[in-house]
Amino acid sequence: MKVDLHLHTYYSDGVYSPTQVVMKAKENGLDVISIVDHDTTNGLEEAIEAGKELGVEVIPGIELSSNINGTDIHILGYFIDWKNENFQVYLRIFRELRIQRAKRIVEKLNALNIPVEFESVVEIAKDSIISRVHIATALVKQGFVNDFYEAFNKYLGVGCPAYEKNIDLSPRKAIRLISEVGGLSFIAHPGKLISEIDLANLIELGIDGIEVIHPSHDEELIRYYRSIANEYFLLESGGSDFHGGVRNDEHNIGNYTVPYKFVKMMKQRLNLK
Ligand code: AMP
Ligand code: MN
Ligand code: MN
Ligand code: MN
Repeated sequence: MKVDLHLHTYYSDGVYSPTQVVMKAKENGLDVISIVDHDTTNGLEEAIEAGKELGVEVIPGIELSSNINGTDIHILGYFIDWKNENFQVYLRIFRELRIQRAKRIVEKLNALNIPVEFESVVEIAKDSIISRVHIATALVKQGFVNDFYEAFNKYLGVGCPAYEKNIDLSPRKAIRLISEVGGLSFIAHPGKLISEIDLANLIELGIDGIEVIHPSHDEELIRYYRSIANEYFLLESGGSDFHGGVRNDEHNIGNYTVPYKFVKMMKQRLNLK
């Protein structure tokens, strides 16, 4: 059984519809997947339906944006009761805060003599949760940068002149939101973002697991995070973080998988069958 617990759709910063993502999963031999769009669950219903059609188990998930002292900390939630009204109230607030942040980023870009318009970003994002990826795409399309990565390295990344931090949600609150809707919380791609101290804090806060398998983790990091998971009785997860489109990550889907045992252990912890 092949399992990929980290996939995005066009409801956040991916380029494919939930149905297309499930089809790609199937084509690449995946039996179980999770859709974990950033701060939205809008793709889940369609993904679960498509999964039923195609014989792919779709675990409802989310990737919440939080931060500690300005460092992005992404928290994955699995098996969430995403239709919970209180949870959706929070997601609506996050959506609005992201719109305001995108406007601030565009203003900063304009001040740097890059006349990108907010409307052109919205045209790209459509109904998705708006993100830096949409702004980067607008910058590429309008020829202000040569490629997607230049947009981040020159303008949008941490420490760059048009950087604006995302939603000011603490990891503590993110973990609580996930547990309030019956889900399990995991530290996303710790190798990419997280210091030892932040990792220790997240464990102290009661995180349920660590994303061990991720394209940004080499063998050594995988071994390291696996040992931390074992030491603190944490669950393990992993996946491709597939988005599609301008980042050329098509080859990742199907190539970053975890054993079904990881899903079984999650279900055991939640008393699910
Ligand atoms: P946001 O959620 O708006 O802060 O945007 C974060 C998303 O942008 C991440 O989920 C990645 O998909 C992408 N991203 C962040 N940093 C970079 C980077 N340095 N290069 C390419 N993509 C990035
Ligand atoms: Mn993303
Ligand atoms: Mn992430
Ligand atoms: Mn992701």
